[in-house]
Amino acid sequence: MADNRDYPPISPYSTGLAGRCPRCGEGALFRNFIAMRERCESCGLDYKFADAGDGPAIFVMLIAGFLIVGLALWMEISYEPPIWVYVAVLLPFTLIVCLGMLRPLKGVLVALQYANKAEQGRLES
Ligand SMILES: [Zn+2]
Repeated sequence: MADNRDYPPISPYSTGLAGRCPRCGEGALFRNFIAMRERCESCGLDYKFADAGDGPAIFVMLIAGFLIVGLALWMEISYEPPIWVYVAVLLPFTLIVCLGMLRPLKGVLVALQYANKAEQGRLES
């Protein structure tokens, strides 16, 4: 894990949501939509430690599923619209919610991984 003596602690939530480096808060975390850069362009922090895995996708599915199913139930109970209304409303809503949450959630999980020094468990002998 990289040495962080010269950097004051910063909130992993603000840096993660903004897609910034979890150590300096300045360099970009992402190369494109959700692909990580090799290292921070500002402080040089190596992003090899970052492995959010399926975490962002799971959180997106849980949160988006709650919102979308809730909206569909509310629409059905309140208005009983025809099926094409569901497609016209829920498909764009689903895309916006899922794609909008994926990058910030990945940023927060990577920043929390850095802040908590999370890594794979190892057996010491
Ligand atoms: Zn940095």
